[in-house]
Amino acid sequence: MKSQFKGKIVLLIITLTISGSLHLSGQKNKEEEYLGKAELYKAKKNLLEYLSDTAVARKYGLISDAIWNYAELGMQEFKSSALLIKTLEEEGFSVEKNVAGMPTCFVATWGSGRPVIGILGEFDALPMISQKPLSPIQAPLVEGAPGHGCGHNMMGTAGVAAITALKKSMEQNNISGTVKFFGSPAEETIISRPYMVRAGVFKDVDAVIDNHASSEFATSYGINGTALFSVVFSFRGKTAHAAGAPWDGKSALDGVELMNIASNYLREHLFYTQRLHYVVTEGGEAPNVVPDRASVWYYIRNTDERLEEMFARVLDCAKGAALASGTVLDTVTVLTATHQRHSNKALAEVIQKNIELIGMPEWTEQENQFAKALQKELGQKENGYAVKPKGLSKPSTIQVGGGSSDVGEVTLIAPTATINFPGGVPGAIGHHWSSVASNYGSAAWKGLNAGAKAIAASALDLLTKPKLLEEIRKEFEEYSKDHPYKSFLPEGAQPPVNLNRELMEKYRDAMMKLEIPGN
Ligand SMILES: [Zn+2]
Repeated sequence: MKSQFKGKIVLLIITLTISGSLHLSGQKNKEEEYLGKAELYKAKKNLLEYLSDTAVARKYGLISDAIWNYAELGMQEFKSSALLIKTLEEEGFSVEKNVAGMPTCFVATWGSGRPVIGILGEFDALPMISQKPLSPIQAPLVEGAPGHGCGHNMMGTAGVAAITALKKSMEQNNISGTVKFFGSPAEETIISRPYMVRAGVFKDVDAVIDNHASSEFATSYGINGTALFSVVFSFRGKTAHAAGAPWDGKSALDGVELMNIASNYLREHLFYTQRLHYVVTEGGEAPNVVPDRASVWYYIRNTDERLEEMFARVLDCAKGAALASGTVLDTVTVLTATHQRHSNKALAEVIQKNIELIGMPEWTEQENQFAKALQKELGQKENGYAVKPKGLSKPSTIQVGGGSSDVGEVTLIAPTATINFPGGVPGAIGHHWSSVASNYGSAAWKGLNAGAKAIAASALDLLTKPKLLEEIRKEFEEYSKDHPYKSFLPEGAQPPVNLNRELMEKYRDAMMKLEIPGN
């Protein structure tokens, strides 16, 4: 791993020396700039050097691979969160566990006083996409088991690596302030952040840096993705002999099916920013017994402004279906509800500068061979890993829907922006075996290492440049006037801590028995 970092450090030291001497003569207003330029460069150099150390890069690479191997679904990330917590505690962070009523949610803190800079980190996997690491053809490790098809194994790890580097540099350079790592479970089901926000976890945070695995090294600002309600509708009917006396029964499954028909007709008349999809989670156990219980789990997505109205209309579909089937709409359980992302432009600009400072990792021939083989299998352009960072992405002028992230919730509480870091194969499909295959091993290690550097370097800028943080806060406060935060969670909503429990238990033993190469 060492060689690819070496060149960068040498270059950085030269840059630091030149920049340091250029600015030392000026030594301008220390009250405004808290750390002089030369001291800031030294502090940044310290944290980048720490992360460039071969043993450190390997340590976090192995943590990422271990979490990849655990592949724990949302709310069941017991081993993954324990590994990250242990790593943080060993580095001297104090860690609050079981945060906001979620056993795998935690907050690690170091330092004291203002500013308070937060770093987000995720670690949950996705169902059904188990795949052998670095295999360019589909080959499940355990048929039907979960897999890390969104790179969250690298993301929590990158955040922990970053905050550790940051703490060391703050100690070495007497930098004051507080840094917090927010261990955020169940992002794939968009669960933890609305509850973390409701519990006041982010209330004293001045700015937040989020991260996501990608094939690119990039950041963006503005409104992105969709707001979401995740809701389970359960119908109650009456059992009967399905052939002998069907007239005595009331099928709860009829309630579910009629609701789905109604909402599919509704779809045509919703504004084009909507997304609506469902899975039937309970629908009877045998055809010869009229089912008295049936449930359907919906994702209802739209812009922040249109979301609640859309939910009300889908709820009417459920009510109408109960009436038509003679069943009862027994429970409507909101598992979670979140906003669109509103990323801060001034913060994204800070991140972009650091991305450019750090640059893309250098990929080996062997890594590119794997990437090209995977691209070939997927019918994509066979060009290997990305070679240079992207420029700062502007928000799209038209909202066209798309996915959701509960990071959206945080963006309305504190100025937030996301670092997308490389390591994934361009053309690999998200939430698919091809991404599981590539989120492991040396390229993933390098990608998360680059991500950790960008997070740590950007956080350092926020800690040491009060004027810059003030500018970021000002943009946020102005924006908040037009976009005041109001939780979409209904009163009494609770995090669904048992979500995925049975599914995870089904596969856990088989997954743990595997010998994964490279570990
Ligand atoms: Zn993701």
